[in-house]
Amino acid sequence: MKVYKFGGASVKDADSVKNVAILLEKVGCEDTFMVVSAMGKTTNALEEVVQLYFDEQDYEKKIHEIEAFHLEIVKELFDDQTKINQELKIFFSDIVSFLRRNKSPNYSYVYDQVVCNGELASTRIISAYLNQTGIANTWLDVRDYLKTDNNYREGKVNWDETEKNFRTIESGKLYVTQGFLGSDENHFTTTLGREGSDYTAAIIAYCLDAQSMTIWKDVPGVLNADPRYFSDPVLLNHISYEEAIELAYYGASVIHPKTMQPLQNKEIPFFVKSFINPTDSGTAIKKGAPLEPKISCFILKKDQHLVRFSSKDFSFITEDKLSGIFNQLYDAKIKVNLMQNSAISLSLCVEDKYGNLKELLNKLDKMYNIQHDEQVNLYTIRHFDEHSEKVLPLERELLRQTLKETLQIVTKA
Ligand code: ASP
Repeated sequence: MKVYKFGGASVKDADSVKNVAILLEKVGCEDTFMVVSAMGKTTNALEEVVQLYFDEQDYEKKIHEIEAFHLEIVKELFDDQTKINQELKIFFSDIVSFLRRNKSPNYSYVYDQVVCNGELASTRIISAYLNQTGIANTWLDVRDYLKTDNNYREGKVNWDETEKNFRTIESGKLYVTQGFLGSDENHFTTTLGREGSDYTAAIIAYCLDAQSMTIWKDVPGVLNADPRYFSDPVLLNHISYEEAIELAYYGASVIHPKTMQPLQNKEIPFFVKSFINPTDSGTAIKKGAPLEPKISCFILKKDQHLVRFSSKDFSFITEDKLSGIFNQLYDAKIKVNLMQNSAISLSLCVEDKYGNLKELLNKLDKMYNIQHDEQVNLYTIRHFDEHSEKVLPLERELLRQTLKETLQIVTKA
């Protein structure tokens, strides 16, 4: 089977959904598993609902806005909207009744039970629309197949169960299912982390021993630089799994970091292609494929923190102290993107996704002198040469590190 993944941008409005049908006609969709994200920015909007709920503010209005956004798309897509409208109404009224009944103070649990409705709604619409246009398909609730632990918002896949479930899928057909979602052993919904639909597609490709996986994007493929931050980006025609993993690790947003591992394990070829020009070749990611063209790749991670710990009594920062700091960072879900240490100091460039850093630094303040720069940029250049740095904007350099083929610079604008 082939696995196709369509992200939020590829299904953001009625025209985009129509484009998905045209794309499938062009490239073929027999024996295919389609993994689809929530429409446009729906996940952000549902995150707001959860926040409003916990802030004890009016969340129902926001839910109605999200529902209206979907019903508007449906109006443009369907001749007869009765059935699909009813289905959507159920999803959205389910959110309201869940929140009214809920007693759990667990933010992440509530988040997953609410946010999942973005993917459930989008896949319902897309599946029904494809059926209407004559592209016969089966809608599947991925939560019946993809099993995780109960680490809400960051579900860890139970591979044995998941693989066993996907093995029951009959090949030869077109399936439409949700990215990003799973369920725990009590069948409560879990999610795999923001932007997790690529990972879902890779999990399914792995479990089905797929012949290939394709992610359809609004860019021509994997570029050597993010066009939002760098001018004249160049399309990479092919790259190896290792290169793709490195790029994702350093923050190339086109590839979700967890996506590569399942694909690489079974050597499943992975394509990133344009949903605007679907017959263009895009980027092929395969075993041993050399980087082509051989060119520097630029990655920017914004909103980082640079933290420098130094010992108060001039004692060495030894392994026990390092492990103490790293354990606490791990517990606070703070991600370290760069580290540099000397005898009495440790510098870390970290990402504080969950807003836990301040509290942690307050705790560590007793043991270390701490210098903290907020809102710093981390630039990574893979395959750098003497010209590469000219591409970077002129910003105050705070730290730099060179590792074989990779140069990293932390700056403050
Ligand atoms: N809808 C989810 C998000 O926006 C998952 C995804 O699109 O990959 O993060």
